[in-house]
Amino acid sequence: MDGTWSRDDIAASVRRAGGRMTAAKRAIADVLATTTTDLSAEEITQRVQSARPEISPSTVYRVLDEFEELGIVVHAHLGHGAMVYHLSGASHGHVVCTACGTSSEVPAELFDRMEHELLERFGFALDRHHVAIAGLCATCRGVRAPGVPANRPGRHAH
Ligand SMILES: [Zn+2]
Ligand SMILES: [Zn+2]
Ligand SMILES: [Zn+2]
Repeated sequence: MDGTWSRDDIAASVRRAGGRMTAAKRAIADVLATTTTDLSAEEITQRVQSARPEISPSTVYRVLDEFEELGIVVHAHLGHGAMVYHLSGASHGHVVCTACGTSSEVPAELFDRMEHELLERFGFALDRHHVAIAGLCATCRGVRAPGVPANRPGRHAH
């Protein structure tokens, strides 16, 4: 993730929209502002609950919805319904392995050409970030991929 939000930015954005910065929102803002990876709602809930066990999963979902409406967070789908959240401003894309479920972030520039062609020829505006591109990772293909950081192993929704 490469958003540049601090927890103060998040609080300011909530207040600007007339919202109240509750303890739950503060806890979730803390998790989002201090993580370097994309997190599922379950992972966000776990981290929030390690400090504040009284905050329920449904509260976390509600706050994530509110943050998304305010443009603070965006979500992406990593295949088979797995969904992750991070602060908005991300310019990367995602690839996901359909065999082992490992996902990686890839530079947004990889999609420059495709974005251009889709727009020129079909008038279609690509969203590089929202849905992961599916395929087979280097490990599952039995080859080594230089310079590709594999993160978040084993994320599969079923
Ligand atoms: Zn992402
Ligand atoms: Zn979506
Ligand atoms: Zn794989």
